[in-house]
Amino acid sequence: MSEVTSSILRETFGYAQFRGAQQSIVDHVVEGGDALVLMPTGGGKSLCYQIPAIARQNAGQGVTVVVSPLIALMHDQVGALLEAGVDAAYLNSTLDWAATQDLERRLARAEVTLLYAAPERVTTPRFLELMDGLAARGKLALFAIDEAHCVSQWGHDFRPEYRQLTLLHERYPGVPRIALTATADALTRADIVERLQLEEARQFVSSFDRPNIRYAIAEKKDPMAQLLRFIEGEHAGEAGVVYCQSRKRVEEVAASLQGAGVNALPYHAGLDVAVRQKHQDRFLREDGIVMVATIAFGMGIDKPDVRFVAHLDMPKNIEGYYQETGRAGRDGEAADAWMAYGLQDVVNQRRMIDESPAGEEFKQVMRGKLDALLALAEATDCRRVRLLRYFGEASAPCGNCDNCLTPPQVWDGTDAARKLLSTVYRVQQHSGIGFGAGHIMDILRGKATEKVKQFQHEQISTFGIGAELSEVQLRSVLRQLVATGAIAVNAEKFNTLQLTDGSRAVLKGETPVRLRESASVPPGRRPRTSK
Ligand code: ADP
Ligand code: ZN
Repeated sequence: MSEVTSSILRETFGYAQFRGAQQSIVDHVVEGGDALVLMPTGGGKSLCYQIPAIARQNAGQGVTVVVSPLIALMHDQVGALLEAGVDAAYLNSTLDWAATQDLERRLARAEVTLLYAAPERVTTPRFLELMDGLAARGKLALFAIDEAHCVSQWGHDFRPEYRQLTLLHERYPGVPRIALTATADALTRADIVERLQLEEARQFVSSFDRPNIRYAIAEKKDPMAQLLRFIEGEHAGEAGVVYCQSRKRVEEVAASLQGAGVNALPYHAGLDVAVRQKHQDRFLREDGIVMVATIAFGMGIDKPDVRFVAHLDMPKNIEGYYQETGRAGRDGEAADAWMAYGLQDVVNQRRMIDESPAGEEFKQVMRGKLDALLALAEATDCRRVRLLRYFGEASAPCGNCDNCLTPPQVWDGTDAARKLLSTVYRVQQHSGIGFGAGHIMDILRGKATEKVKQFQHEQISTFGIGAELSEVQLRSVLRQLVATGAIAVNAEKFNTLQLTDGSRAVLKGETPVRLRESASVPPGRRPRTSK
């Protein structure tokens, strides 16, 4: 068996050796086993079903149907396979009637080795009829379900059409299946297994580590200036992606980078299809283009020499962050994943969750995922250890992330946190309503502003008890409290601060609050540091 697959690897794809778990996956699937493959982006998932498809076609077992969510992805893969001499095709809306007819005829004769199609296409009566015909003659070799996390609403890219895919197993129980994804935490993984009925499938979980990617997360001060410094200082003239949350911001950031002489292009779903395509082509073909994009950009884009991925706004969760940063350094050379984050990001993300039309259970899960990302951003220890732990993998400090390379000064913010929480509490008691972060900090620092006087908050017992703390420090305390859920920012009520169930332990001093010391704390006013 290994001989057959190794020779396909060499002769068709021109590679000398299998990587990681590829060989065992391929052998398992060639022999008709079901598989669930979890492998990081760039790990080499495609070969895991392409080689079995070729081997099974050569053995007279017929067609492999590849379910893939994106037309662009299908085009690239089919193009590459045809170039390698593999009989591959895609069935989608870009084919005209005659081409569809022709393809269907070839399919009926099982002449195609790999057929790519979108999930909604695979489950149409017309396509099912075609597959029925093939199955009846034993010519349906394999189902490959790419981007399998799309089946889960806990994943970051839920596509309802994926739910229909259970039908494949029910209708063709004898046909083996391989499902693949680059992102799945425990919850998503369990969901994939359940939704696609893969209970019996063997799971192949590769290490998710991308050792060549250096992770760094910076506090947002002047994000544009920080981004420019990062690009010019470390990646001048190199290809990269800058992710932003909104289309408007993509436009602004792209323009501002262009103004600074960076070869930047915008990409988002609001741009004309032709423009988007042109920008994507330039990014792939030219050297040193910086794509400023929303998350609409990236899936299925295989550019090996992306040297950095920057997040100017915080993503929704760790899976999204990992998937996006995973687009850097696919060639194995050193690459950077850099993110700037601030309190406003937290507030925005929370608001998006709160305002979404989803059910409460779903919102709870989303909040939990956001918290995990916040905790990563606030972490003072190895980022990689935390990232990998999130995906269920134990590891040792990596030596290749910002926290490992320049261990942050840590100060004990427990006392500051208690002062902040008790001020929030007293203000609420005093006025019967909540207030925002700025006002709370004014009270703490003993600033008798107009608003403080208007509400007579200078009479509150905590007025001025945090006078020794800088605003930067207080913001850091606040972020950490929000990140750990010890305080809530109520987006529906003007971002007022509210105590939570988690506040009590901090108030009582039971939960120590360890904070990153910000570089901008003036010397002489630095609080006690530990470490
Ligand atoms: P994924 O889908 O997991 O992101 P791909 O299948 O696109 O990854 O593979 C990533 C890159 O690695 C591709 O350029 C692919 O050709 C290459 N690759 C995959 N397997 C091997 C291998 N065994 N040897 C060398 N290169 C490989
Ligand atoms: Zn590290």
